[in-house]
Amino acid sequence: MSKFQALKEKVLKANLLLPKHDLVVFTWGNVSEIDRENNVIAIKPSGVGYEEMKAEDIVIVDIDGNRVEGDLNPSSDTATHLEIYKAFPDANGVVHTHSQWATIWSQAGRNIPAYGTTHADYFYGEIPCTRKMTEQEIKGEYEKETGKVIVETFEKRSIQGMQMPGVLVHSHGPFSWGKDAYDAVHNAVVLEYIAKMAYAAEQIVSIENKLPSMQPELMDKHFLRKHGANAYYGQAKR
Ligand SMILES: [Zn+2]
Repeated sequence: MSKFQALKEKVLKANLLLPKHDLVVFTWGNVSEIDRENNVIAIKPSGVGYEEMKAEDIVIVDIDGNRVEGDLNPSSDTATHLEIYKAFPDANGVVHTHSQWATIWSQAGRNIPAYGTTHADYFYGEIPCTRKMTEQEIKGEYEKETGKVIVETFEKRSIQGMQMPGVLVHSHGPFSWGKDAYDAVHNAVVLEYIAKMAYAAEQIVSIENKLPSMQPELMDKHFLRKHGANAYYGQAKR
């Protein structure tokens, strides 16, 4: 049996939490965990469906991305995970999804402002959105460059990795991390929840400012024709 068996089983379970929490569809998304003693990471195989995935399908790669164990190719995002592990020594689990609300903010190229305590319980400040990647980065070692753009965002804004366990990659989607694979998934779920609420809160404010309430006479007409003393909606009471 592989010496990484327990790690593989844990990473499998963590991956299965993604569809459970509605963070992914099809084979999208991936979770990994690092074994810092042996300097290897366990990660989801590329393009395998969640319902058929087994512990032995989880791929073990070294810190340079070379496959150590497993017959399948590791997730195509492996190089991004590796850059996050290198930059944040306390991050031992990494998650990437295209969860809908966080991805909407990524596509808009916007940081998610801290609008409430749910946010503050997990993320110390606005959740950063990276800059767009350059043509050179996209045409080069794209996944590795994606990781480097994430790290650059944290360095430039002096954000500590463990005080902000998530990021939005511009025009792409969220990455999150945590103390282990489960914690990283937990943060991915919270990030998605916050992204949805922040969007909705902004909508309420903008609607309040721009969209007037309906005419009071129309409100009266509709409510009172159904519920008032002289209601006439529907059939006469028999
Ligand atoms: Zn992606």
